[in-house]
Amino acid sequence: MGSREERHRLNHDLVPLAALISRELRNEKMEKPTVRYGCAAQSKKGEDYYLMTTDCQRVQGNPSSTFSVFAIFDGHNGTAAAVFSRDHLLNHVLGAIPCGLGRDEWLHALPRALVAGFVKTDKEFQSKGQTSGTTATFVIVDRWTVTVASVGDSRCILDTQGGAVSELTVDHRLEENVEERERVTSSGGEVGRLSIFGGTEIGPLRCWPGGLCLSRSIGDMDVGEFIVPIPFVKQVKLSAVGGRLIIASDGVWDAISSDMAAKSCRGLPAELAARQVVKEALRTRGLKDDTTCIVVDIIPPDNTVQPATPPKKYNKLRSLFFRRKSHKSAAKLSKKLSAVGIVEELFEEGSAILAERLGSEDSNGPSMSDLFICAVCQVDLAASEGISVHAGSIFSTSSKPWQGPFLCADCCNKKDAMEGKQPSGVKVT
Ligand SMILES: [Zn+2]
Repeated sequence: MGSREERHRLNHDLVPLAALISRELRNEKMEKPTVRYGCAAQSKKGEDYYLMTTDCQRVQGNPSSTFSVFAIFDGHNGTAAAVFSRDHLLNHVLGAIPCGLGRDEWLHALPRALVAGFVKTDKEFQSKGQTSGTTATFVIVDRWTVTVASVGDSRCILDTQGGAVSELTVDHRLEENVEERERVTSSGGEVGRLSIFGGTEIGPLRCWPGGLCLSRSIGDMDVGEFIVPIPFVKQVKLSAVGGRLIIASDGVWDAISSDMAAKSCRGLPAELAARQVVKEALRTRGLKDDTTCIVVDIIPPDNTVQPATPPKKYNKLRSLFFRRKSHKSAAKLSKKLSAVGIVEELFEEGSAILAERLGSEDSNGPSMSDLFICAVCQVDLAASEGISVHAGSIFSTSSKPWQGPFLCADCCNKKDAMEGKQPSGVKVT
């Protein structure tokens, strides 16, 4: 034991510290929503797979850095791509996030890591030489922030209190997506309907050879590299009232609309809600396809007062529903909107051009120490091996071909193939 003065000082230090910890724990509890989830599935072909995990940690061993992952993989021409993606996509995404980031930086790095993780998973699966492909709708829930990355047509919707239903994904279907149709044809794919006897065309628009209805997927090496694995990514921050995510394969969306799905299960707990959505889809269309649904509820902490239904004028103003962060609106307005359940849009990007998705090194890329790692597959690169993702790109006349991020030769070939180009690239010497 030290002197009386020392003990006094210790006490003096300890008391505020204990108070601080308990206050932090209380804040932690206050600001951390509860995540409840359920899944239901009816199988027809046995090609739908899913992933639900609520115990991932940003910082290993730190429970306050816990986040959840929910995903649906709807396979076609076999199950191999769906199973492979379920087993590897998460690790490939996390492996593309630099170490030692705080929560905000980590969330900021996610969109880019999702692109790298999707492309790496696709490349790895294709190297196994198996055919088959899969949609991938991959959702990360970190407290109030929801990040969705998706290729294909397994939609994810958000239902917030007050009845506003919005889609967090876009459907990569050739039939409905003009932009994607143009991209596929300009990269060397042929888009048309199935011809039957007498030249009659039936069914949705497909990509030939192969006859795939999707414009993006993981796998599908027999269809063509222009069917890219580069995901549409959207990141939103929910307001303090939380919200419900409904992720489902096209077995649901071919039968019922986003609005119908949301309305059909309101008021039910997540597990029952998922079952109800599947039931509703089957009732409408019968079991024509694998039908899988995951419902995730992000629920405010118990002691938060649930706000009333937002005023009608907010429901009508859909454009206000997603308030872009970059918007010049005053902080006051943002506070007011979030109080009535307005969702803040943090990020949205759907370009199929890898260089646009990986960004440029000097803005928000990794630090110098990461310069010689392939931005997609994360392999170490010798100083002479890295090829700038911007090399030879007609989209970045201002970018310097010696500027990062860099790709290994293999990933660079893949990038060029996805854009319908012959392998080319400026080597860094
Ligand atoms: Zn690589």
